Formats: sequence, structure tokens, C-alpha cells
Amino acid sequence: MSEVTVKQLASTVGIPVERLLTQLNEAGISASGADATLTEQEKLQLLGYLRRSHGKEEDESAAAPSQVTLKRKSVSELRQPTAAPRTSTTGVRPPPPPRGSKTVSVEVRRKRTYVKRADEPATGAPAAAPTTTAPRRSSNEPRNRPSRERSSPSGSVFDESRRRTELQGLRAEQEARRLAEVEEQDRLAREAEVRRREAEEARRLAEIAAADARHQAEMEAAARKPPEPEVVAQVDEKETEETSRRADAAKPKKAVKKAPEPVEKERAAKKVVRKEPVRVREIEVAARSDYEEVDGAGGGRGPRRRKKAPKPQLQDKHVFQRPTSPVVREVSIPDSLSVAELANRMSVKGSEVIKALFKQGMMVTINQQLDRETAMIVVEVLGHKAILADERDAEGTLIDEVQEQEGQFTPMPRPPVVTIMGHVDHGKTSLLDYIRSTRVASGEAGGITQHIGAYHVETEKGTVSFLDTPGHAAFSAMRARGAKVTDIVVLVVAADDGVMPQTAEAIQHARAAGVPLIVAVNKMDKPDANPDKVMQELTQYQVLTEEWGGDTMLVKVSAKTGVGIDELLDAILLQAEVLELTAPRDGPARGAIVESSLDKGRGPVATVLVQAGTLRRGDIIVSGGEYGRVRAMFDESGAPVESAGPSIPVQVLGLSGTPNAGDDVMTVTDERRAREVAEFRSARSRQSRFDEQRGVSLDQLFLQLKDGEQKAVNLIIKADVQGSLEALKDSLLKLTNDEVRVAIVASGVGGITESDANLAVTSNAILLGFNVRADAAARRVVEEKGLDLRYYSIIYELIDEVKQAISGLLSPIVTEEIIGLAQVRDVFRSSKFGAIAGCMVVEGVIRRNSPIRVLRNNVVIYEGALESLRRFKDDLGEVKHGMECGIGVKNYNDVQPGDQIEVFERTERARVL
Ligand code: GDP
Repeated sequence: MSEVTVKQLASTVGIPVERLLTQLNEAGISASGADATLTEQEKLQLLGYLRRSHGKEEDESAAAPSQVTLKRKSVSELRQPTAAPRTSTTGVRPPPPPRGSKTVSVEVRRKRTYVKRADEPATGAPAAAPTTTAPRRSSNEPRNRPSRERSSPSGSVFDESRRRTELQGLRAEQEARRLAEVEEQDRLAREAEVRRREAEEARRLAEIAAADARHQAEMEAAARKPPEPEVVAQVDEKETEETSRRADAAKPKKAVKKAPEPVEKERAAKKVVRKEPVRVREIEVAARSDYEEVDGAGGGRGPRRRKKAPKPQLQDKHVFQRPTSPVVREVSIPDSLSVAELANRMSVKGSEVIKALFKQGMMVTINQQLDRETAMIVVEVLGHKAILADERDAEGTLIDEVQEQEGQFTPMPRPPVVTIMGHVDHGKTSLLDYIRSTRVASGEAGGITQHIGAYHVETEKGTVSFLDTPGHAAFSAMRARGAKVTDIVVLVVAADDGVMPQTAEAIQHARAAGVPLIVAVNKMDKPDANPDKVMQELTQYQVLTEEWGGDTMLVKVSAKTGVGIDELLDAILLQAEVLELTAPRDGPARGAIVESSLDKGRGPVATVLVQAGTLRRGDIIVSGGEYGRVRAMFDESGAPVESAGPSIPVQVLGLSGTPNAGDDVMTVTDERRAREVAEFRSARSRQSRFDEQRGVSLDQLFLQLKDGEQKAVNLIIKADVQGSLEALKDSLLKLTNDEVRVAIVASGVGGITESDANLAVTSNAILLGFNVRADAAARRVVEEKGLDLRYYSIIYELIDEVKQAISGLLSPIVTEEIIGLAQVRDVFRSSKFGAIAGCMVVEGVIRRNSPIRVLRNNVVIYEGALESLRRFKDDLGEVKHGMECGIGVKNYNDVQPGDQIEVFERTERARVL
């Protein structure tokens, strides 16, 4: 910008080029034209010329003020941190920098000139000047007077022209001055604007820096230890006060400078205070999340420590998060479960399961029971993992627990539990009644001895418990339910009657149960009593009394007179000693149901025979499919009791229903568990109705019995007459051979009774009736348990059928016959069929579906089956002797020329006796 052309200067100044050229000439600067360049020197020269003219004018204007110039100076201050960039030096006087920041004084000078506007048109229209000179002149007269005075002596044309020139020069001068003024104003305005912007920028930067410092201070404070909000506020207030006091004492300038600091600090303090609730909220969230986590583990609530709040993301914890991978659950599958339950276990909707099953071709309803296999398929289809549930689940674990607990307590001798059996009218009831009436203390409380199905008697030598259900029907029924309650069987035989069919049955039952017998020969008071005959008859049933050199005790009693009852009790206790009956007295009770009924007033009533531990009032028990808390207990005399030890029968109130005789009884720690086990059992018994738990049948024998063992066929034979029975028994027993053993569990004369059927259940036997039929009760058991019951009227038919059944048990005779032989001539390799042996059938016939052997040098190198049998392009079922064929051996590609392929057939023939 040091050199400009005349034209540029003219446009900058805003006057025509010609006038500028004139002015330049007047200033003594030679400018050739519009494009001539002007040096800085020349410009200054022009300015000097113009100023000189202006100076003259100024002097004149003082005399006649046609214009007024106003000057104003304003001083302001800016505070600026040291880090901030320096402000422009123009018009800025840098003050001594204070600590941490510096204050800048800004001085703004303004000069404004007001010109009398009456002259403006003349100034603005120089072209019209000559015509309007007069008024102008008059107006300008005072200013121009000196020059006119100077020029007045002339008065010539020259003077006129000179005056005109002067006038022009004057105008030019005015113009230049105006321009200069405008220029000056613009410059000042620009400078002021620049300063203002700079100051603004500085302030902004200062604020940012202050905010940074504040933030850092906060961060540091938070990192150290979060101060108590009140304390922080107080400290800040103190600081504020202190600062303001200092500010008051200091110069106003300093006060101005210091003022923002407390404000900032206060704001910072406020921020801390404001921040506190946020933190509290965080802690609350953290505590809650702790609680949730710990809750799952069964623990308590976590402490409200800030340290415990692990991550700031905790606040997002409650926001739903889309799972990133499918949730695979482990689903335990019991034997059977409903669609709804399966859906529940997989945490899916029931409709999902129904849909999945529908796709598998099964139409099910939500409550339909699914078997294990189907359920597992559904679980796999829906992408979860099926796990076989422990079939014994709740029940199994409970039984294990009870056994384990029992093992923890020392076993003590316990009273024997006795069942009385014998033929009808031989005096079982009489015997029991006699013992009870004489031995059981009549209830002091109730007065009336109750029939609760069992009772116990105290003797000098010990206690004996009797099951008060005479006959082997009950005995077998209980055994059929798996309850082994009886320790000793007392077989009552009337001395005047001897061994009768039911006596024999009783022996069989006792033997099947592995329970020792004590024979009580009753009605000894009768004149025709003949105990020797009884003993003799018993030998037929392999019951040898001690008198006769055996090990069975025999006591002669009379239920009428009471003779021998003590001896009988002694014998029982002696036998018990031999048996070394023990059970823990302490610990939870385990027992069996003797009988149960529904009492109108008292609800379900069950007689429990405690077998181990002690049953107490208030215990929670589970029995079969029922459970409940023992509300009250009574003994056989009707007196309430608090507890019952091993082998003691008690009547129990409080069960949810009536369990079956023979069901087990277990004490459970909590009711929920009892309910679980009971429900599990109920569900299982429901299920078992679907499952045909068929008893053994002749047809199934072969399938049911395992190989390698000696197979046994258990039979129960009932016949119309003793003669037939003996004949049958002899013939059947002769069928026993090395592989199959025929065992006659029970036999007798008369119809098939319920006890026969129960015995068949427990001993897995087949019921055979020769000219006899089963009674209604027996048929019901046969039906329920799916027993095999057969009637015959011809002896050899019965024997033949059993023979056939047993034959089925014999392993069949397998014979092998070679039906064809082919010679391998060549081997072709086919990408489709593998190795194909080109053969000539040299013997017999080659059958496509028969097993084969590959022989090399007459040694078997492979045994298997044929993959293909072809002749030319045709697949054939068989190829006959003398024909060529292509043979592909299944899973074997190593056939070589010269090998032989032998085709054989196996024939199985059942073995007959
Ligand atoms: P259960 O069918 O085996 O229970 O026999 P009971 O106990 O009903 O007795 C049948 C009959 O035999 C009754 O009339 C009794 O009175 C009678 N009886 C039972 N025991 C004796 C006994 O020891 N002596 C005599 N003389 N009669 C008896």
C-alpha cells in the first residue's frame, strides 16, 4: 500500500480523478495522469498541502465558526488472564499485570465535526458553482476575506481568474478536509470495534479458563473425599465474605477484578451441593441392585457404601437390554408332564409348545400330559437343553434323607410286630380278643377299647405289638404294597381240626414273606384236641416243630381259658430276640399305615405303626399321596398320647386324606416338602393307571426274564380236589430243567381267593385254576394288577400250556445253512457303487437279502450283507447257479478276484421239552 495510482487514491478518497490531479498539481506534485503512481512521500506532500490550506481555514473558522468539532475521550477497563492473548496496542495502555490476570485500560477518543449545512449544496455541486458564487461568497466571506483583501488591490481579469482559482482551491480544500474527517472517523470506529471484539474475546477466554479451573478443582475435591455439602457451602461462604472484605479494602479496580472469583466459587459450591443428591440417587440404585443380586443368593441387603456402587452404568441396569444371544435353559423332564408345565419350565408360552408339537404332527391341548420322549423333542426343537429329571425326585431324596437320618441314631431293641393267621374258625379273633382284653389296659380316658387295627401288650418280659387284622388277606394286601410290617406270624391251628387249606395258605404266605412262624395250637381245652395230629400234618408243609426236631416253636393254647397265652407271648419274645429286632428310638419317625378310615367328626383317621424313630404330636408327616400335621394321637385304649416309639401303633388325626393300608409314613421337616412329595406320588399313581403295569403272564415270561440266569416260573395252583392238585403239582415240578425252574408258590383246594391273587402279585406268579374259579375279590385284584389267570379242566392241557410257556424261555436252536457260493472273477470300481465283484455263481443261489461271508483261501475275512446284486443292468433278488452277476458288498470294498462269496441263511427252531 505504499504506492498507489492516482485513480486508486481518487476512488479511495471519493473525488473525481481530475480534481485530485488538480490538487496534486497545486501541491506541486507532478502527476501525469490517472495511472501515474504516487509514492508515500507524495501522498504526505499532498496531505501537508491540504493541511496547510486547512490550517488557514481553521484560523478563519475560529473567527466565524461555520463548523464545530467535538472531542470526547472515554476510559474503560478490561480484566484479562495472563494466558489470554494480548490486546491490540492501539489506544491501549497496559496496566501493571496483577497476580493471575491483568487489567487493560481501554481509552476511546472520539472527535466529531459538525459543519453548517447551508453551504453543503455548493460543496456538493461544484459544477453549478459559478452561477451561485455570490451567496456562497457572502457566506464564505469572513473566511475568504483575507484572501479577498489580499486580492482586492488587483481588481483585474487576472485577479478575477486568480480569485476563481482560489475559490476552486478552497472548495478542494474543504472537500479534502471532509474526506480526511470521514476517514478519521471510520478509522476510529474500526479501532473501537476491534478493541471491543478483542475485549469480548478476552473475557470469553477468561471465563473458559475459570470454568476449567473450577472443574479441575471439583474433580480433585471429588477424588480426595466428597466433602459434606453443608461444610463446603460454609467454607465457600466464608471465603466469599473474606474476599469481599478484601475487595472493599482494596482499590476499586482490584475489587472489580476480584469480584467474579467469589461468585464463581459460590457457583462451584452450589454445584457441589447440587451434585450431592445425584450421588445419593446413585447410591440408592447401587444398594437396590445389591439387594437384587444378593437376594438371589438368599443373603441380606448389601451395605450402603459408595464403594459398593460398582459402575456408573448401574443406572442403566433397569433399562431393558436386548439379549445378545438366545437363552438356553436346562429343562428337567420328569416321566410325564403337562403341556402347560413344560412351557412353564422353558419360560415360554403354552401356545409355543402347542405350535411346536403341531409342527411335529401332534395336536395337543394345554392340559394334555406328554410323555418324556415327546417333551424332550419339544425342548430340543425350541432350542433348550433337556435333562432327565431324577425319577424319584422329591420322594427319592426324602427317602434317602430319612434313611440317612436313621443311620445317625443308635438302633435299640424294639418290640416284635405279630400277625395272627390261620384257618377260619380256628380261633384267631378269639385269641386276639383274649390277649387284648386281658393285656391291654382299658382306656382310663375313653373307657372303651377301640379297634384301631393294631395294639400292643406289655408283659414282664417285654412288649409285643399285634396287628389286629386276622387272616392272611390283610397280611398279603400290605405286603402287596411293599410294607414289611410283620416280624413274626402266629399260625393258629385248632387242635381239634388240624391243618386246613387256609392253614397251608398261611404257611405259604409267611414263607413267601420270609417271616418266621410260631404255631399256636388252639382250643386245647377241647376234649378232642389232638396236637400231635396237628404237628404231623404240619410236616407235610415243611413245618417241623421243635418237639419233632425242627426249628418252629409250637405253643398249646386256649383262647377260651387263656391257657398257654403267657407261653405264647414268651415264645414270641424269644423269637424276637433271635431275630434281633432293632430300630432307632430317636430321630424322625418312619412307619406304615395299618388301616385308615374317614371319620365323620374327626376327618381322616389313620393307624400308623411306627417302625423307627419317634412320632410326635405336631410332626408333619407324608403317607402315600396324603400329608398333614399330626393334630392328635391316640393309643388302642383311646387315650391321647404325645409320642410313639418303634413298633407302637397309634391312631393319627390330621392327614389330608385316607392313605392305603401298607403305605409308608415319613416325617418331613416342612409342610411344603410334604405337599411336594404327596403331590408327586399322586401324580405318579395317576400316571400308573395309564401305564399298564401288568403282572407276569405266561406270554411275557420270555421277555421279562433276563438271560444268563436260571429262569423261574412261579405258579399258584388251585384245584377242586386234592387228588388233581397233587397230580398237577407233580407233573409241573417235573418240567424244571437246567434253564427253567418251575416253582409252585402256593397250591390248595378251593376257589381262587383275594389272598391268592395278592400272593400272585407279591411273588410274581401265574394263577392256575383247575376246575375252580376266582371269586369277585380275586378277580378285582387280577384285573387291577393285570395278573395272568387261567382256568383248565383237563390236566394235560394245563401241563402242555405251561410246557409251551417254559419252552419259550428256552433259548431257541439256531441252525445255519449255506445256500449259495459265488466265485469272484474280477473287481470293478464304480464311483457310484464302490467295488463291484464280477462273480460266477458256482453253487446254489445267491439271495440279495441273505447274510454273506467273504472267503479268501477258505478263510472268512468278512461277514455282512449284500449292498447290490445285479445282472447286466438289472437289480435282482436272486441269481441262480451257473449265472454271472455283479455283487456289491455292504461296507466292504476290499473284495479281490479269487475270493468267494458265501451266502447263508439262519433258521431258528424253538426248543421243546
Ligand atoms: P376265627 O375265624 O379264626 O377268627 O375264629 P374265631 O375267633 O371267630 O372263633 C371261632 C369259634 O371258635 C368261636 O365260636 C369261638 O368261641 C371258638 N373258639 C375260639 N377259640 C377257642 C378255644 O380256645 N376253645 C374253645 N373251646 N373254643 C374256641
